[in-house]
Parts: sequence; structure tokens; C-alpha cells
Amino acid sequence: LADKMKQQPSALVKKLFLQGKMVTINSEIDYDTAEEIALDFNCICEKEVKVDVIEELLKDVEDSKDSLTPRPPVVCVMGHVDHGKTSLLDAIRQTHVIDKEAGGITQHIGAYMVTAHGQKVTFLDTPGHEAFTAMRMRGAQSTDIAILVVAADDGVMPQTVEAINHAKAAGVEIIVAVNKIDKPSANVDRVKQEMSEYELIPEDWGGDTIFVPVSAKTGEGLENLLDMILLVAEVKELKANPDRTARGLVLEAQLDKGRGPVATVLVQKGTLHVGDSIAAGSCYGKVRAMIDDKGRRIKEASPSVPVEILGLNDVPNAGEIFVCTPTEKEARSFAETFISEGREKLIEDTKAKMSLDDLFSQIKAGNVKELNIIIKADVQGSVEAVKQSLVKLSNEEVVVKVIHGGVGAINESDVTLAATSNAIIIGFNVRPDVTAKSVAEREKVDMRLYRVIYQAIEDVEAAMKGMLDPVF
Ligand code: GDP
Repeated sequence: LADKMKQQPSALVKKLFLQGKMVTINSEIDYDTAEEIALDFNCICEKEVKVDVIEELLKDVEDSKDSLTPRPPVVCVMGHVDHGKTSLLDAIRQTHVIDKEAGGITQHIGAYMVTAHGQKVTFLDTPGHEAFTAMRMRGAQSTDIAILVVAADDGVMPQTVEAINHAKAAGVEIIVAVNKIDKPSANVDRVKQEMSEYELIPEDWGGDTIFVPVSAKTGEGLENLLDMILLVAEVKELKANPDRTARGLVLEAQLDKGRGPVATVLVQKGTLHVGDSIAAGSCYGKVRAMIDDKGRRIKEASPSVPVEILGLNDVPNAGEIFVCTPTEKEARSFAETFISEGREKLIEDTKAKMSLDDLFSQIKAGNVKELNIIIKADVQGSVEAVKQSLVKLSNEEVVVKVIHGGVGAINESDVTLAATSNAIIIGFNVRPDVTAKSVAEREKVDMRLYRVIYQAIEDVEAAMKGMLDPVF
């Protein structure tokens, strides 16, 4: 017990001795006594120890600088509904994926690669920031560059703003694709103007955001968009070591009637081979076959390459990290540890979610340097007013940051952004919708609803000073 609690055995013996219990280091104590002692030592050891085990399993070896070689960028497409995300993904795929040698039959495996000017780019095939954020919720960063699609005839819409803030919170590079420029009503300058309000200022206006006018319908500008992706990738110097055991992410997975569990994975480091022993969350196996996005059977997959793999014993969760192990036995024990430690639940339990109630103690403990806030209100004026007052509360210890603000009910996207960015949500004269409410409960996101602005400001201020009245 002392070992698990990271305490000296003598300290425990002494504690028990003072309670009149004569024990030695070899004595057995019952569960209740152990619990009492652990609580006495203010020890959340059980959880810590278990999370250690998982972290140990997932621990990655740092690759030396000279082992790193350039890898293709991984790109996702985000934006408002109907602005053309799917059309853009399809257009790029059609113009750049036709592989005559392989018969040109493209497979939808959750991601695909294109070649432009002899260089490769990987596109994640699921449009929208929900998929993107779901991955981040599991602690995995899948994307290097986000293409933000904005329809030139419609301009910036609520989900455009959501996408901007999701991408920013994830620290992902944004390229703006101004789509539907074939339409007579297209107005690229208006989009630039509107995006500037969100600190995405076009290069030709003195900013540093790349804007590419495109038409998914006519194909105009697609070449330019790919060029820009390659340019950003080059600047970012994306690299990985291909000569090591592989690890990466599960992008999607399902049970196929004929083939058994099928998972699309994205290799992030190392090279994955047919025959490798692999574990992904609670699943394990040996890679029996690999199929690329052109439907070809391949023998190996290097960094940034998406492949479908066969051979897992079960269907893993999307977003799960996969690792390769020297033997299948190790892969199995990895998966078994995952199951026995109940990873999902553990991570839920130990997620240090931001809440106004314990903000002060977190600040004092030095755990919090930034208070991230999402503001939703019934009118834009309130969003701005609250934002400005809250940001002014920043002091030497904590910086108050408003990472997203918008008009309308608190939705699922707000909650997932809060969960992944460790933010709290403040609502003015708005309520969470049903899904948002249940996700907030599950993810333990602190959501506060107000009718008067000054009360919100007062609450945050009080929380920062450790003087917030407890809510009963
Ligand atoms: P998503 O919801 O963002 O995935 O949008 P879709 O790709 O489904 O496109 C929504 C609608 O816009 C569809 O009817 C498309 O045909 C149309 N659309 C997409 N891109 C363009 C474009 O460049 N020009 C024109 N004229 N229509 C487009």
C-alpha cells in the first residue's frame, strides 16, 4: 500500500500505531483501513497509479533530430453546412487521385492521398469540425492544416466561426478556401472583409492568412489550393522518423461481414508493415493485410499514409491511438491492460475539468495560467460586452481568454470545444440544447447561465479571488 501511495512504509506504520493498531510492514490490513489511510494521506493513489500504467503503455520514444525526414501534410476540411466541403473533397479526389495503373477504383476509407507536383498530401475524408474535435477529445491531434471553406455567395456563417475557433484552439494552420466563385453572386472581397473580423487577415491586405478562391464545381483554383497546402507544409517542416515501430491513429473502424474488423488508420510515426503486431485501445492483433485508398493491397505504410488494416480481434474506437509491439503477446497484454484499467472511465474520472468552483485553488496550485471562456448570448452586443469585461479581469496569475463567442443556444460544438480546450461556458439569456446538456454532463463541462451581465463578471472575478459563493 505504501508503495502505491508513494509513501514510506514507516509513515503508514506510525499512523496505524497512533490509532492503536499494532502492525508491521508485513501485516495485512483490510480494505476499509487502507481506504481510511489513503484518504488521510490525501491520496488519490489508485487513480494515479492506473493512469500511470496507461501512460506508460502509450509512452512514445523521442526520435532523434537526424532520424526525421519530411512527411506529407494531413489536411481536413471545415466550414458551414452547404458551403461545399464535400464537393471540394470530391473535386480534389477526382482530379488528383485517378490512378490509371490501379484501374482507378477509389475506395472511401476515411482518408485519401493526392499527388501534386510530385508531392503527396493526405486529406481526411470526414468534413466538419465535429469529427476533428472528437479526435481531440481523445487527446489525439490528427491534422496539420485545416481548409476553411466559405461560400463566396454566402459569407461567414455561424459554423464558419465555430470552425475558426476549433482550429485555433487546436493550434492548426488555417487556409481559407473561398468557394463557389463560379456563381454570379460571388463576392470574394466580402468574405475577406468578414474573415478579417476573426483575425484571419489576407496576405494581400497585410495579414498572414492564405485565401484561395476556388470552385468545387468547375475545378478553378484547386491547383492553387494544393500549391498553398504544400507551401504551408514546407514552412511548417513536417517531419517524422519512418524507421521505427509504427504508431498513429484510428480514423474509423467497422465490422465487415466478410473481412471481420476493418480499421482505417493514419500512420503518424514509423512504418507499418503487414505482419506487425498491433494494439489499438482494447483491440489487438497482427496486421493480416493492408489496403490503400486506391484499393491496392500494400505491404507497408509510412508516416501520414492512411491505410485500411485487417487482422484486429475487434473494432477499435475512432480516435484511439494505435501502437506496434515486438510480439503479438505484448499487443494482447497492452489491450488487456486497457480493458482492465477501464481507460475510458479513468480518463473521464481524472479529466481535470475547469470549473469556477475550484478555479482559485487551481490558480494557487499553479495549475492554471489561462482561463478559457466560451460566451453564448441572445444578441451579438452582449457577447461583445461580456467579452470585453471578462478579458479585463486578467491579472498576473491568470489570463482570461474568450476562445469562442456567438449568438444562439449553447450547442454540442460549444461543449466539445470547451471540453477539449478546458474552457467554461457562459450563457446570457440562452440555454443549452438537449444534446449540449447531455454532452456537458458527460464531459463535466462547467456551464453557467445568466440573465444579467454584471453577475457573470462578478462570478468570474470572485472565482479568481477564491471568493465565489458555493452553489447548492
Ligand atoms: P457541405 O455541406 O459543406 O459538404 O456542402 P456540399 O459539398 O454538400 O455542397 C452544398 C451545395 O453547394 C451542393 O448543392 C453543391 O453542388 C453546391 N456547390 C458546392 N461547391 C460549389 C461550387 O463551387 N459552385 C457551385 N455553383 N455550387 C457548389
